[in-house]
Amino acid sequence: MVATPEAVREWLRSVPDPEIPFVSIVDMGMIQGVEITGSQVKVTIVPTFAGCPAIRLLQEQIRQVIEEKGLTATVEVDYAQPWKAEYMTKAAWEGLRRAGFALPQKLSEDPWEMLHSARCPRCDSDSVSLLSPFGPTACRAIFKCHTCGEAFELFKPPV
Ligand SMILES: [Zn+2]
Repeated sequence: MVATPEAVREWLRSVPDPEIPFVSIVDMGMIQGVEITGSQVKVTIVPTFAGCPAIRLLQEQIRQVIEEKGLTATVEVDYAQPWKAEYMTKAAWEGLRRAGFALPQKLSEDPWEMLHSARCPRCDSDSVSLLSPFGPTACRAIFKCHTCGEAFELFKPPV
C-alpha cells in the first residue's frame, strides 16, 4: 500500500489527545511531521503538555494505527520544538470549550504568570482563583470562577 502524509494524518484523526478524549491529536496540532520512505512511516509529534506520562501511550497508539495499515512506523517526540496553542484547529478549541476546559490566555516562561492569566471558559470572566495547581493530572490546574460560580480546569502547556 502506498501512503501519503495526508492519508497518515487522516488515519491519526482516530487517536484522541491523551488528556482530552474528544479532541484528536491532529486537531491539537501535535503532528509536526510525517515522512514516508517506502513502507516506513516516521511521525514526529510535539508534546502539548510537557511532562505528561501519557506521551508514551500516545506513541504506541500512533504506531498501532499505522501498523494496522500494513506499514511500519516510528514515532519521535520533538521536545526541542515547543507546542503552541496556535497549532490547534478551531475544532480543538471548540471541543475544549464545550467540555469546560480553559487554556492560558498567554504563554509564558513563568508558570505562575500563565496560571494568573486564566479566564473562565464558560463566561469569560477573569475574576477567577486558583484552587489547586494540580488537577486530576499534573497537566491541569483547577480554578473557580467568581462570576458564574463554576469550577474549571486549565491546561498547562509546556514551558
Ligand atoms: Zn465563569
